[in-house]
Amino acid sequence: MRPFEHLTVQAADEAIQALAGGDGGNTRLIAGGTDLLPLLKDGLVNPGRLIDIKPARALRHLTFDADGSLRIGALTTLAEIERSSQLAERLPLLRQSVVDAATPQLRAMATVGGNLLQRSRCWYFRGPFDCWLKGGTVCYMRDGENKYAAIFDQGPCRSAHPSDLAPALVALDATVSISGPAGSRTTPVAEFLAPPTNDERVEYRLRPDEMVTEIRIPAEAIAGHGVYLKAMDRRAWAFALVGAAAQVTILDGKVARARLVFSAVANVPWRATAAEALLVGQTLTPDLAAQAADAAIAGASPLAHNGYKVPLARELARRAILAAANLWTETN
Ligand SMILES: Cc1cc2nc3c(=O)[nH]c(=O)nc-3n(C[C@H](O)[C@H](O)[C@H](O)COP(=O)(O)OP(=O)(O)OC[C@H]3O[C@@H](n4cnc5c(N)ncnc54)[C@H](O)[C@@H]3O)c2cc1C
Repeated sequence: MRPFEHLTVQAADEAIQALAGGDGGNTRLIAGGTDLLPLLKDGLVNPGRLIDIKPARALRHLTFDADGSLRIGALTTLAEIERSSQLAERLPLLRQSVVDAATPQLRAMATVGGNLLQRSRCWYFRGPFDCWLKGGTVCYMRDGENKYAAIFDQGPCRSAHPSDLAPALVALDATVSISGPAGSRTTPVAEFLAPPTNDERVEYRLRPDEMVTEIRIPAEAIAGHGVYLKAMDRRAWAFALVGAAAQVTILDGKVARARLVFSAVANVPWRATAAEALLVGQTLTPDLAAQAADAAIAGASPLAHNGYKVPLARELARRAILAAANLWTETN
C-alpha cells in the first residue's frame, strides 16, 4: 500500500472544501471503508489523500417528512435501515434489500452512499488482470469464467452490479442529492448509476470534487407495497446471483404503479419497463405476473456459464410481483 494523507472532517461543507483543495482524482472520501479499503489494499485505487466523513453526523439520518417522503442521509448505515421499525412497517422493500447484504459486522459499517458507489465484484476487475473496466482493452468476463456475469449487454463490460440496495432505490424512484463546489444537484438514482463508458469506466456519474449527501424517496412510491427477493449460492454472506425488487400500488383493484428492478443482471440495476407496462392498469393475477416475468427477461443474452440467471430472474420476478401485491392485500 502506498502512503497517503488522512484527514477527518465534521461536516459536508468541510468535505467539499477538502475535495476542492485536492488534485482531482487523487483525493477520496472514506465512509465505512468496507469497499474502499480492500480496493486500496489491492492497489486498484491509489489516493494521495483520504477524507474521513464518518464524523459528519448531520449526514446520518432516516427521516419521514410531513409530506410522506423519506430522506436518508448518505452516512446512514445498512444496519440502521435494517433496524428501523418505521421502515419495516412503511417500506418493507427497503429494509428487505439490506437484511441479506454482506454480514452484520459489515452492515454496521457500510453506508448508503458507499453502497451506491461500490465497485464491481468481477474477479477480473478485482484480480491481477488488465481488464477493460480498469483501463485495458478486453472484458475477460465475456469469454472467461462468467458464472456471475451480467445477462444483459450494456456495453464493453459484462460485470454485474453488486448492490442489493440500489435496485430497491430505483424501484422507489429515489433521487440522490449531490453537493460540490458549484452547489447542489439532484438526480434520479436510476441515472446516477450508469453503465461504464470508454470515457467513464465506473458505474456511477459523480465528479471527483462532488459528494453524495442524501437519498430521497417520494411519498407516491412509499404508498405502494413491495418486496426484495435475493437468490444467493449460499444462505448468508453472499452477493446476489440475482435479486428482484418489486414495488406495486393497487388502486380500486388495478395496478396503478409498478416497478420491477433486478440486481446482478446488468452493469447497473436493470429496470424491467416492459414488465411494468404489462401490469399497469390491470388486475394482478398469477397469469399476469407470469407474463410480466417473461417480459422482464426478454432480450437477455447470457454467456457460456451464466444461462441459469435467466430462469432464476424470471422466477424471482414472478414471485416478487405476486408477493408485493399479496402484501398490499394483507395489510388492507
Ligand atoms: C465481504 C463483503 C460482502 C458484501 N456483500 C454485499 C451484499 O451482499 N450486498 C450489497 O449490496 N453490498 C455488499 N457489500 C458491499 C457493501 O455494502 C459496501 O462495501 C458498502 O455499502 C460500502 O459502503 P462504505 O460506507 O463502507 O463505503 P466506502 O468503502 O467508505 O466507500 C466506497 C466508495 O464510495 C465513496 N464514498 C463513500 N461515501 C461517499 C459519499 N457520501 N459521497 C461520495 N463518495 C462517497 C468512497 O470514496 C469510495 O469510492 C459487501 C462488501 C463486502 C466487503
